[in-house]
Amino acid sequence: MANPLYDTLFGAHAGRDAPFLYLTDGTVITYANFLEQTAQLAHVLTGLGLSSGDRVAVQVHKSPQALALCAACAQAGLVFLPLNTAYTTDELTYFIDNSGAALVVCDIASSKALMPVASGLGAKVETLNGDGTGSLVGKASHAPTSFDTVARDADDLAAFLYTSGTTGRSKGAMLTQTNLLSNAQTLVQEWKFTKDDVLLHALPIFHTHGLFVATNVTLVAGGSMIFMSSFDLDQILTQMPRATTMMGVPTFYTRLLDDARFTKDAAQHMRLFISGSAPMLAETHNQFEARTGQRILERYGMTETNMNTSNPYNGERRAGTVGFPLPGVELKVTDPETGATLPQGEVGVIEVRGPNVFKGYWQMPEKTADELRADGFFITGDLGVIDADGYVCIVGRDKDLIISGGYNIYPKEIELVLDEQDGVLESAVIGVPHPDFGETVVGVLVPQADQSPDTDAIMEAVKGPLARFKHPRRLVVVDSLPRNTMGKVQKNLLRDAYKDMFA
Ligand code: ATP
Ligand code: MG
Repeated sequence: MANPLYDTLFGAHAGRDAPFLYLTDGTVITYANFLEQTAQLAHVLTGLGLSSGDRVAVQVHKSPQALALCAACAQAGLVFLPLNTAYTTDELTYFIDNSGAALVVCDIASSKALMPVASGLGAKVETLNGDGTGSLVGKASHAPTSFDTVARDADDLAAFLYTSGTTGRSKGAMLTQTNLLSNAQTLVQEWKFTKDDVLLHALPIFHTHGLFVATNVTLVAGGSMIFMSSFDLDQILTQMPRATTMMGVPTFYTRLLDDARFTKDAAQHMRLFISGSAPMLAETHNQFEARTGQRILERYGMTETNMNTSNPYNGERRAGTVGFPLPGVELKVTDPETGATLPQGEVGVIEVRGPNVFKGYWQMPEKTADELRADGFFITGDLGVIDADGYVCIVGRDKDLIISGGYNIYPKEIELVLDEQDGVLESAVIGVPHPDFGETVVGVLVPQADQSPDTDAIMEAVKGPLARFKHPRRLVVVDSLPRNTMGKVQKNLLRDAYKDMFA
């Protein structure tokens, strides 16, 4: 094939009259409509002088046109580089500079500030607004509705995705056509997607979850998506009756459960609810089952690898685990010091290998060499353990590991105990500097609505299940945990906030 990614995801649907996107205002965009706009945008991109392998940095609100721009990059052989809409001009400057983007697409509001930055870095600027207007679409409306797909190899770069920046500065992960395609094809099989599926899509499309997992799975299956600009509870409940599946971050599900309108009846026609991007509390799994009679399917992945593991479609979906390695993905738990594979049941670093694993970090050869072994295994930075039945459990990130008085302490173990205490909704356990122990344990608690947890009683209660060295030295109660746009708890911000607690 001339361009495996474009041909498989998009070209296969050329001229198809079936719906691809349902918008909340009632508009239906068919595959044929979508691909015509894609071709028009591909003409604009090449007309701007962009050629194979050039990077297109895109910071725009979610819209069908933004998705068509992604498809147009695939068709024109360009590397799509989506950026979080929350990034400021300063942050964007870093990404444009770091990626060497040839074109920046942003909304009109940010274009004024970006123009001088982009031109200083040799990049062109075009606009695309959340309502689908802007210079890019303006130019595209005059372009032909078919485009000769630019040839690309399966091993060529298709996208650059910056990681969420949960543990430090975001890194640009270089993803090839094969990385994206192989994973989407595997997930379609595993999760049994077909052309009859209608996916409730309320995730952002600058992140792998909404862009590649949700969208590419739909494209491979030839199904459709209810494409919502953001997560809006009223809209979700209004649209759910015509959906068959939903993908979300854990907070989507806790917000649904907080709403009495989300009933067993509202969910019963749904075939599958999938969660990922951050750990889901066992309590959420259980509440969801009690409410709907269905178990959420939790899976695990990351920007660098797409998806690595999934709970089974048929079979037990086990809370607190992320299921089994996907077909074609090898997963092992290794000793962080020696790299040796650890026996089942021991906690270590999760390493993965497979066609889904990225090529490396853009212009970070040292970091790439540190994390991507010569034999192809990627050291994920997540700590995990494999249970007796082969389910993979994530116990946290290696950067969040607490070393106190020479002992390794896994925050997750303490969080699970804290979460069970009266009046506690959720918790985050961090290590903060301590003069005697190097680091010590601090528990940050979020109360359940209208509750004020008794921290003295909790300090007593944890003494039963937890060894002395794991006891939090202090508990702090806060209104909410700091989370980034993907719902991930930003422990680095908590560590920073409490770093002088024992100074
Ligand atoms: P950065 O690498 O820049 O610090 P990040 O790792 O949060 O940011 P992403 O690639 O968006 O960036 O997130 C991948 C991470 O999300 C995984 O490494 C893992 O820690 C976490 N994750 C994803 N799915 C799950 C899950 N089901 N349970 C627990 N953690 C998960
Ligand atoms: Mg990461």
